[in-house]
Amino acid sequence: MQLSKKIQQLQESATLAMARKSRELQKKGNKIINLSLGEPDFNTPNFIKNAAKKAIDNNFSKYTPVAGYHDLLEVISMKFKRDNKLIYNPNQIICSTGAKQSIAQLLMVLLNKNDEVILPSPYWVSYSQMIQLAGGKAKVIKTNIKDNFKITPDCLKKAITKKTKAFLFSSPCNPTGSVYSKKELIDLASIFKKHKNIIIISDEIYEHINFAKHHFSIGRIDGLQNQVVTINGLSKGYAMTGWRFGYLGAPKEIAQACVKMQGQITSATCSITQRAAITALKSDPSCTYDMRNKFKTRRDLMIQLLSEIQDININTPEGAFYIFPDISNYIGKKYNQYSINSSDDLAMYLLEYAGVSTVSGTAFGAKNYIRISYAAAEKELISACKLIKKYLHQLK
Ligand code: PMP
Ligand code: GLU
Repeated sequence: MQLSKKIQQLQESATLAMARKSRELQKKGNKIINLSLGEPDFNTPNFIKNAAKKAIDNNFSKYTPVAGYHDLLEVISMKFKRDNKLIYNPNQIICSTGAKQSIAQLLMVLLNKNDEVILPSPYWVSYSQMIQLAGGKAKVIKTNIKDNFKITPDCLKKAITKKTKAFLFSSPCNPTGSVYSKKELIDLASIFKKHKNIIIISDEIYEHINFAKHHFSIGRIDGLQNQVVTINGLSKGYAMTGWRFGYLGAPKEIAQACVKMQGQITSATCSITQRAAITALKSDPSCTYDMRNKFKTRRDLMIQLLSEIQDININTPEGAFYIFPDISNYIGKKYNQYSINSSDDLAMYLLEYAGVSTVSGTAFGAKNYIRISYAAAEKELISACKLIKKYLHQLK
């Protein structure tokens, strides 16, 4: 069978691949602590679950409008205004089966062959693959731990070419947990204001997992409104990964193009999920605070435990639920026959020897790092860090 070039070139999602490997090892009876998948370990709040049960009983079982129920679009429009001071009318909003689909189809709608998308690295694994799938090219701006993984207006300016179509970033960031401040976003915005044809794709899925300050949306900055697409969803802040609910707000022409695209590939997301989303987003976000506070306690714990490991270098992430240590000191080291030549090798070593699954930085565009998710119980995190320490110290 001859599969398409597109699929042959596509890499498997590294986050999902590590989660799959961990499950396979667990099935064989190995004890694995899974810190690879970025998924809250909390349950969905009860009031949201009850709304879904009610929707089933009230027979919300038919196809819905492609963009989502109209009352849901109105609630999202209100949410954007209430939480983010963003003005998106209902006809500028479309709901999808997760922020992942929102971003993928947005890129398909925007990009022509070889259009460039500026992508600060480290970036979420799927961004680069989605750009490629849509026919575009990622123009990567590298950052490192010394800069808290953030780009400057100067690097941004240098990355812009005649082919630049979009800029794609997440803040709070997966995989680094970095958060751009209001001032930093205003500085970047001053460059975008001079390039009105560039679409800024702001992935705000970790909005509610921000330890430092109130979330600030780039689309709020005067003069940028017609350039910003804001992505969000319920997976992270509301612990609803399996419900598959994401949405975007965009200039009308872009939002309606996404509706046309979605109408040909998945139609709308699940009707029951949509009714539950109305309840979730109508209520103020206080149900997310408890989860955020727990994540902060875990972040502090992880920093304390990982700081005891001499040869890794960490910073203090201000949001999301990931730590992204620099592991370059271990490259070239060995344990018995096992040589560490890359962060892929190190992640596999930690999985096979220490029984802790992480994700190599390579797929995030950062080859000397690994990503550790701390969306797990504190007991597990303590055991995992002990094992990581023991096995890293064994490398000589
Ligand atoms: N953006 C980022 C930065 C993410 O980490 C994720 C994680 N899955 C997503 C988008 C997609 O989330 P979902 O499809 O579950 O809404
Ligand atoms: N976004 C999460 C992660 O980075 C979930 C897995 C995925 O969709 O990539 O681990």
